[in-house]
Parts: sequence; C-alpha cells; structure tokens
Amino acid sequence: MLFKPSRRAVLAGAATLAAPRALIAQSAAFDVDVVVVGAGAAGLAAARELQALGKRFALIESRDRVGGRLHTDVSLGAPFDAGALYIHWAERNPWTEAGRALGVELRSDRGGGGGPFRLFENGRPVPDSERGKRRAAFRALSRALDESQTAPDVSIVARVAEFGPDVVAAASGMTRLSLGEEPERVSALDYARLWSGEDLLAPAGYGALAERFAAGLPVSLSTPATAIDWSGPGVVVTTPKGAISARRAIVTLPVGVLIEESVRFAPRLPDATLAALEGLEMGVLAKIALRFDGARFDVPANTDIFEVRGPRVTYDFECWPFERDIVIAYLGGDHARQVVGLGEADAVAHVLDVFATLVGPEARRRFVAGRMRGWIDDPHALGAYSHALPGRAGARAALAQPVAGRLWFAGEATGGQGGDFGGAMTAGGAFLAGRDAARAAAMG
Ligand SMILES: Cc1cc2nc3c(=O)[nH]c(=O)nc-3n(C[C@H](O)[C@H](O)[C@H](O)COP(=O)(O)OP(=O)(O)OC[C@H]3O[C@@H](n4cnc5c(N)ncnc54)[C@H](O)[C@@H]3O)c2cc1C
Repeated sequence: MLFKPSRRAVLAGAATLAAPRALIAQSAAFDVDVVVVGAGAAGLAAARELQALGKRFALIESRDRVGGRLHTDVSLGAPFDAGALYIHWAERNPWTEAGRALGVELRSDRGGGGGPFRLFENGRPVPDSERGKRRAAFRALSRALDESQTAPDVSIVARVAEFGPDVVAAASGMTRLSLGEEPERVSALDYARLWSGEDLLAPAGYGALAERFAAGLPVSLSTPATAIDWSGPGVVVTTPKGAISARRAIVTLPVGVLIEESVRFAPRLPDATLAALEGLEMGVLAKIALRFDGARFDVPANTDIFEVRGPRVTYDFECWPFERDIVIAYLGGDHARQVVGLGEADAVAHVLDVFATLVGPEARRRFVAGRMRGWIDDPHALGAYSHALPGRAGARAALAQPVAGRLWFAGEATGGQGGDFGGAMTAGGAFLAGRDAARAAAMG
C-alpha cells in the first residue's frame, strides 16, 4: 500500500493542511488503521508487524531513504556504516533473525578477536606500564557500573569518583566513545540497565540489511510529518503531501527531533510525556571516514588506534575494517560537537592531521577523500542516540506510556521489551519497541 494524500487533502489543498482537526471530526472513517511516522529500525519493524497482522497502515519518512540511523554509506567507494555497526546482544536481537532469513552474511567480529589496538597520548605511544594501569582502571569501572543497578540514580562521574582519578578518566573515555556524552550528564543507573551479549557484524552493512528488510514495504519517502493532531477520536498526521487520518499512530521520531518540537502536537503532549523528554538527551557519536589509496602505513587491518589528548578528547581510528581502504575516526561528546561544528571539509582535514601524527606524514599524500557523518548536524536525527540524565532513569518507561490509547512513542529511546529498557540506544532495541507498539496499536 503506497501512502497517497487523502482525497480530502487533495480537494481542499492548503486549507486541509491548516485545519485537519475540523475535517477529521466530521468523519468517522479513517484513511488507515495505523500511521507509522519514521522508517528507521522501529518504524520498519512496526510496519512489518502491522503488515503481518493484516492492518491497513501508512509509513511515512522525511528522508529520501529508509533506515534512519541505520545507514551504509557508499559515497567513498568503500562502504561503511555511518550509524549503527554492531548487532548487539545478537542472541536475542531480532536483526539477527532478520539477517539470517534474508541470507545476509553475519560475522562474530571484525578480525576474530576484536582486533589489536594501539594507544597514544598526545602523539606518543603509551608505555606498557601505563597501559596496565589503564586496563585495571577499566576493570574497576566495569565493576562499579555493573553494581549501579542497585545504586542511587546519579551520574557516571558521581558513581565512580570514590575509585580515584584513573577510574574517572576511564569513565570519561568510555562514555564519550560508547554513549557519545560526557560522564557527568549520563545516569549510571540507565547505563547499568543496558543489555550485553555477543556482537555480530554484517560485512555488507547494517544499513544495507535494514534496506533489504524494508524491500517491498509501502513507504512514502521525503514525506515529513509537520503536525500530529490527536484531539479527535483518532490521529491526523499533516505532511506537505497531504494529511493522513488513522485510528492510531506510532511515532518513531528520534528524541532530538521530539525535543526540538519541529513536529507540532495538538493538543500539546501530556505533562508526563513532556517530563519524560526533559529527562532524556541526545549524545553525539560522530564518524569521519578517510579513504586512502591502498597504503596501510604498517597498520594491520581491524586495528583500533586511540589517541588521548587531555581529559576530554579521545580519537578512535578504526583502520581498514573488512580489509577496506578506509579509516573511520570516532569522536564523541562535546569534542564531537566541536569538530562537527567545523563543517565537513575542516573536520576531515582535522582528523587526517591527527591520524598523520600517529602513522606518519605519508598519510596526507595517500589520502583520497573523506566523509563526515556527525548526526548532531542531521535535522532528521539531531544526535546519535539518547541517554537519561542523572536522576532521570525512569524517563524511558514514561515515554513508552501510550497517550490517550492512540499515540505510541517507539524507538531506541524506549528500546527493549516488556517494560525492560535494556535495549535502549540500539537498533535492536528500536526494532523490539517498534514491533511491540505495532502489536499494541493493532489491538481493539
Ligand atoms: C554513529 C552511530 C553509531 C551507532 N552504533 C550502533 C551500533 O553499533 N549498534 C546499535 O545497535 N546501534 C547503534 N547506534 C544506534 C542506532 O543506530 C539507533 O539506536 C537506531 O538505529 C535508532 O532507530 P530508530 O528507529 O529509533 O530511529 P531512527 O533510525 O532515527 O528512525 C527515525 C526515523 O524518523 C525519520 N524522521 C525524522 N523526522 C521525521 C519527520 N518529521 N517525519 C517523518 N519522519 C521523520 C528519520 O529520518 C528516521 O528515518 C548508532 C548510532 C549512531 C548515530
């Protein structure tokens, strides 16, 4: 089923867009049973489930492609996942099953063991004695965070402060590169609840897997929702192509987009939902890909090179993933916000410079092209993924509460299943949340 503007919208043109509420109030019939807003992991999973349940649905997406933060970028000739890469906790991740059903190759990790790594500080290799100290700090950090499930809802920094400056430094590097945020702005309890398990990789790309999963789904691309009216018996979603009326809506907009309020809800969302959004923030994990001409600078494939520059700046250069001629620089938190703010050309030049100080100036001569995927600069996402603020670990559960029996918020921010939000931040969690929302919205 391809979404088409409703007949009313076509007839009434702009007037319909301005006044969908009055129009829907006059009609008991809806265009569809459920309208799904956003065709990322959550929206695609919801749509597939609605299709399986035989429901009439519309799936709208503001971008000119599906997948959202699941996107395999091929613009440099060597594909890389600009968003999600790892199929986390693969044993219960629905993307594992979806990949296998589609005959997609899945591997347990990049090089069989996670790959080697090198550690630098201000351009100088970190000596073995220092590396041992850092490893011990990471072990202490891991223990402290594991125990946070039963600790008060404080920030990660507050949680680990008593273990000394080495552990605080480890926490800082970890939260920046895995959560995309500074440790003082992340709830340790929210982090401790996240699921863990085996990670799988799709060499052809996690984004490419999502695209194959979406094949054949009736999705209306380049169709942004601009307003969602839930004042009547159902929901009316306004788009530049017309309005869609539905009994229910599944809203998979990223938290960044919801916070920005570029989609207007009428009436305004209930206080509980707004309070939930106040408890969440989007972190930034930027990827800047550097394409080289085949030179390897004596760095084996699948090596991670870390460069630490002071307490707030860490670069992770992932070299030659899947033996491809690219290096992906990962930057997180405020440092990522700063570098992304430079714009693509300057950001690429900057990380190339840093990389060259680690592997030698030859890197500048053998460089071909670069690409920045900053996510915070992407109006369809406005960040990488959501974290709960200290003291706000209940925010995901509150956001997952359906509104008036006709609006469901689903996505990585509510990622998980059955009231357990351990799948938050991930594409697998978004899939589970989208599928559950579809089952709930299809009932009755
Ligand atoms: C750099 C990076 C690395 C990551 N690494 C991993 C990883 O290794 N493993 C992992 O599991 N997860 C990872 N993630 C997180 C993962 O990508 C997300 O959790 C997941 O893809 C989110 O899915 P979603 O459906 O909730 O949101 P999205 O994928 O953002 O889908 C929401 C959709 O809504 C659309 N939209 C926005 N505004 C509108 C509008 N007004 N109208 C209609 N549509 C709209 C968007 O374009 C988007 O397609 C990573 C993310 C980033 C950015």
